[in-house]
Amino acid sequence: SIMPATLSAISNGARKGILFKGGSHLESLGNLRAIAFDKTGTLTQGKPEVSQYLVKPDLEDEKQKILQIVAAIEKHSNHPLAQAIVRFVTTKNQNVPFELDSIEDVSGWGVKAFLNGETWKIGKRSFMDGNIEEVIDEKQRSFLEEQGNTIVYIEKDQQVVAAFALKDIVREESKQAITNLQALGIEPIMLTGDNANTAKAIASEVGIIHYIYECLPENKANEIRAIKEKYGLTAMVGDGINDAPALATADIGMAMGEGTDAALETADVVLMKNDLTKISQAIHLSKRMNRIIK
Ligand code: ADP
Ligand code: MG
Repeated sequence: SIMPATLSAISNGARKGILFKGGSHLESLGNLRAIAFDKTGTLTQGKPEVSQYLVKPDLEDEKQKILQIVAAIEKHSNHPLAQAIVRFVTTKNQNVPFELDSIEDVSGWGVKAFLNGETWKIGKRSFMDGNIEEVIDEKQRSFLEEQGNTIVYIEKDQQVVAAFALKDIVREESKQAITNLQALGIEPIMLTGDNANTAKAIASEVGIIHYIYECLPENKANEIRAIKEKYGLTAMVGDGINDAPALATADIGMAMGEGTDAALETADVVLMKNDLTKISQAIHLSKRMNRIIK
């Protein structure tokens, strides 16, 4: 049966916007050693915006047509980057007239589509076959990435033809939330599918020292196992479908309130207002409750 001190702590948490699915997680929170954070949608708002559209210099005439094709492909993906690209194109140009023959979502890398006998790929650098320098040089690329932009590349028949720089904004509370956890002696770790430069930029903006980049969705759970092994009791905070296996693997899974159904269902704790500073509050609540029980 559930102890009165536990019940009172659970309802106290609920009033503060921290939803616990049961008392056992509330008890163990006080002993947490590490917390892994997903980047996009967790530390950041998850609503990136296109800040630049670049096209291969000799394809300047096809700039608009490429945009239309990209939007026709990305409207089939629900990745936040895809949605940002579609928003960018459709606000500039109302109709997206291209019909695709087929499309393949390559989770963690991008999308691949066929139309009019052409093969199009949209996604990260390592997903491209062609040379990205046809569109963006090394210096410009690292500059944009170090500013926290994610660059998405576009390829037609194995030739890189265009690129977008997209910028996602760090949540207002992220830095404070990380500082609070560090003060409690808990190691914060960021997990992301993004590249090294962008990962480093976002991590340093929120004060995280330890980050894991180019982490494929299927590897997130393995990273959590390794963190548990190294640090001990570990929580994971995430929002996406991709995060569900990692949330389940962590000792305590935490979902952002506005996260996907898969994340909300898998999590042990839900942060109702997407407020990451609730995590340290929940830990204080747990420590207080454990003192009363003992
Ligand atoms: P994250 O949520 O950390 O960005 P993902 O595993 O979802 O990680 O994606 C990793 C990378 O793959 C993205 O940063 C992006 O470069 C690329 N990518 C994935 N899906 C798409 C898509 N639909 N359109 C463009 N790029 C994509
Ligand atoms: Mg996410």
